[in-house]
Amino acid sequence: MKTYQSPTKDKKTKKNFFMRNIYGFIFGITLLVVAAIITLTLVLNARRAPVDNKPGGDIGVDGPPPAPTYSAPLVDYTVGKEASLTKLVYSSTLNQWRTHNGIDLLTSAGSEVKCVGVGKVESVKDTILEGVVVTVSHEDGVVSIYKGLSDVSVKEGDSVTGGTVLGKVSENMMTEQNDGAHLHFEMTKDGKLVDPATFLPELATDK
Ligand SMILES: [Zn+2]
Repeated sequence: MKTYQSPTKDKKTKKNFFMRNIYGFIFGITLLVVAAIITLTLVLNARRAPVDNKPGGDIGVDGPPPAPTYSAPLVDYTVGKEASLTKLVYSSTLNQWRTHNGIDLLTSAGSEVKCVGVGKVESVKDTILEGVVVTVSHEDGVVSIYKGLSDVSVKEGDSVTGGTVLGKVSENMMTEQNDGAHLHFEMTKDGKLVDPATFLPELATDK
């Protein structure tokens, strides 16, 4: 007599197969979980690595480039009138209160004026009121401006670096005639005047 047993038998067979291999399955699943954890750990560490391994702002894959450094435009100087970009200060030469857009570095006439950093000479202008004005563009939208020069030794388009002699200090800056021989030094970032002491802390009087 034929009985219909196959589904039960099948089930039983499947169940037996499962029971026989349960340790295998558990082992397999455990392996998968461990592999997943290791992979995740490696991926997360790799992502964190450029930041963790480079303290001090070195160039990293995700980090910003290092800020360019600048050096003082004169070897020997004393800081005279400091920058006053918003507050009015009295100008004895012009007999009026006005902003002072840069720092005056007092020194003897004829002292060499040096470029403060790597860049390109944007312009050399001989002006009536401010003597010869040299403008140099640097990285990151920073521009340095040297006013009241004579004997300028660079021309528009020249590549310059920190220490390149641009010209000499004169007493030709009519708008600051009463302040004696000095370099009037300005800096801008993205077209806006900034206190040069921001980039050159040694020029700050309250350092
Ligand atoms: Zn000045």
